[in-house]
Amino acid sequence: MFNWKMVFLIVFLVTGGCAGIDNSDTRNQSFDVIEPVQAQEVDQDKEPPLQREKPEEVNNGQLAKLYPETVFLSGPTTEKKIALTFDDGPDPRVTGSLLDLLKQESVPATFFLMGARVEAFPQLAKRMSDEGHSIGSHTYWHRPLIELTNDEAEVELQKTNTAIKQAIGKETTLFRPPFGSMNEEKVELMRDLGYSVIIWSVDSEDWKASPPDEIAKEVVDAVRPGSIILHHDGANWNTDLSGTVTAVEQEIKELKEMGYTFVTVPELLNLSGQPQ
Ligand SMILES: [Zn+2]
Repeated sequence: MFNWKMVFLIVFLVTGGCAGIDNSDTRNQSFDVIEPVQAQEVDQDKEPPLQREKPEEVNNGQLAKLYPETVFLSGPTTEKKIALTFDDGPDPRVTGSLLDLLKQESVPATFFLMGARVEAFPQLAKRMSDEGHSIGSHTYWHRPLIELTNDEAEVELQKTNTAIKQAIGKETTLFRPPFGSMNEEKVELMRDLGYSVIIWSVDSEDWKASPPDEIAKEVVDAVRPGSIILHHDGANWNTDLSGTVTAVEQEIKELKEMGYTFVTVPELLNLSGQPQ
């Protein structure tokens, strides 16, 4: 049977939509592993564009103060513990080699996955879980939560958690909003659904495809005890994330030398009841 989900996923990847992706930027388009399908193959009725006006986004620091039990930008500053996080995967171009590195370095991380990509690459999600990493939700289609009604948001979250449960055998209560966009209404929805909203305090901006040593230097200079570091192990097909693994390798080496310990987000934030 023709797999529509795969076609939508591939077209989504081709057309972009991932955190921080600036489509006006010129990037290396050297990936030739996966050829995109033509857009006309897609049944446009399946994923209708959003028609609503964009609601106002609220500053995440403000939200963390208003909802300290639900929204987190970083962890306690009393110990030199930090958390590496990776968004927008699983992506076969990056995730496997990243998992190899984390295993070799005995570094646990936290992955915020897109439901559509978990359905496409469940074995990579399973490997993350099997190797001790934490898994969170990043919505099914990487849609900005604040532009959805609460009912639509719940559908995105439920579809993602169904995909995660099928892949790894358990659901997640960790959530990272696509584009980091949140407001009070959506924080209260996430709280009522039992999720913790995990933002970040250090942004690697790895999607800009800067040289790996530059990415690593920016991160290492910005890290403080309790930092939550944002990286990406997935992107649309014409975004070059090939430097991410090299940058992360350098960050791990330098931060270990500085006395930092890497932990998962649930461990950093001491979130009881969260799947590890
Ligand atoms: Zn994202």
